[in-house]
Amino acid sequence: SRPSYVLGLVGEGISASLTPAMQEREGRESGLQVSYRIIDAERRGFGADDLADLLDWAQRLGFDGLNVTHPFKQAVLPLLDELSDDAADLGAVNTVVFRDGRRLGRNTDWSGYGAAFRAALPDAVRDRAVVVGAGGAGVAVGYGLLDQGAEHVAVLDSDPERAEACAIRLAKRYGDHRVTPVTDLGRALDEAGGVVNATPVGMNGHPGSSVPEGLLRPDLWVSDVVYFPLDTELVRAARARGCRVVTGGGMAVHQAVGAFELFTGRVPDAARMTRHFAEL
Ligand code: NAD
Repeated sequence: SRPSYVLGLVGEGISASLTPAMQEREGRESGLQVSYRIIDAERRGFGADDLADLLDWAQRLGFDGLNVTHPFKQAVLPLLDELSDDAADLGAVNTVVFRDGRRLGRNTDWSGYGAAFRAALPDAVRDRAVVVGAGGAGVAVGYGLLDQGAEHVAVLDSDPERAEACAIRLAKRYGDHRVTPVTDLGRALDEAGGVVNATPVGMNGHPGSSVPEGLLRPDLWVSDVVYFPLDTELVRAARARGCRVVTGGGMAVHQAVGAFELFTGRVPDAARMTRHFAEL
């Protein structure tokens, strides 16, 4: 019989997530039996205080692993037996693997962003970049870009203290000279090859763009982490201006690619998962 895996996604407001469909279909295509459940804290009525019980029960019920998303990526840290160095440095876990009675914390957001960016714009991986938004997504994007070889990342947030905290985290791993917190987006863009929106601005219910249209030059690449919808206001403005564009879909797919491998030990077919995602 086919090896079987029971997996889930724990987070808030995740009922429309495409991850279950991606993981289950890749499982089928790889000859595995993958069941992937949505465990929505809002719908099930639990919060961060219940996370310890939830992990206990998932383990006792035979789950092989969980993806963890907003707002639990930080809260899950103290509940794990082992953390990868990158997850510890990021201060966030999006993948928990249950193995031999132990809980292993991993992070495939940053590596997923890096892989997605390299797949989309391989010639731009060394460019200087500006990251707008210094929350969980911004830190992951910064790690992904620097890991792929970006010369420098400037971090901007409407809350300057968050930009500074993010820059300190990034600099700890990649060096002070490669990261700067900034407050003037126009000036930062003058020196950059591209810009990433890592704020929620542009997603359904958050109209607008974190990058004013007037700052977009045709020679800039523009990347968005938002993927509900894929065609955000920023993405549409950038395309109209002639910029090269990387939508948030790539990160969503490649974090799942990384998690699939951690859960099953099999390297999934990233191109096939990208095609599936596009069909969903
Ligand atoms: P967060 O709340 O932790 O951080 C958002 C940050 O953006 C905050 O620090 C906030 O101050 C800042 N901000 C908000 N509006 C701003 C503006 N106009 N200009 C500058 N800074 C601004 O949120 P997060 O967890 O980092 O998530 C951000 C977005 O990333 C969400 O929309 C989420 O859905 C998306 N995301 C996508 C993927 C993917 O796979 N594509 C993965 C993770 C997160």
